[in-house]
Amino acid sequence: MTDSSGTYALLLRPDDEQRIEVGALGEMSVRAGVYVYVGSAFGPGGLRARVQRHVEGEGARHWHVDYLRAATILETVWYTHDDTRRECRWASVLRNHPTSRVPMAGFGASDCDCSAHLVAFGGMPSFLEFRRRVQAACPDHTVIEQVSPANFVT
Ligand SMILES: [Zn+2]
Repeated sequence: MTDSSGTYALLLRPDDEQRIEVGALGEMSVRAGVYVYVGSAFGPGGLRARVQRHVEGEGARHWHVDYLRAATILETVWYTHDDTRRECRWASVLRNHPTSRVPMAGFGASDCDCSAHLVAFGGMPSFLEFRRRVQAACPDHTVIEQVSPANFVT
């Protein structure tokens, strides 16, 4: 991962079942399973600075995902340096996955028309299957990679 811009997904596993407050959205019930949040970083610092911030999971809570991050373990990160903003497409692929559900309408989707940029699965979804679905939806999509949070220095 570099300082270039790009799109990413955080795979988050709750450390406990609980109810959390998600800023202005209100209360969300966090259950066992894996939550997948999609975002993009097209500003200064690019993808690496943004993901580094999520890995650390500290500081002020600006985005909906910051509230969820505080209640979960970041297991893995999927990302692309594709220079097109792919986050809404990724979110759509994830929402259309046969075993996903949208745990909270509007989560992470304040700036677009998506129903949510967060989905939940009962267990860890397959990276290869996700990549195949995105590439089928966007034939011109550049490579999608997976990285462990352990590769970031905190
Ligand atoms: Zn969207």
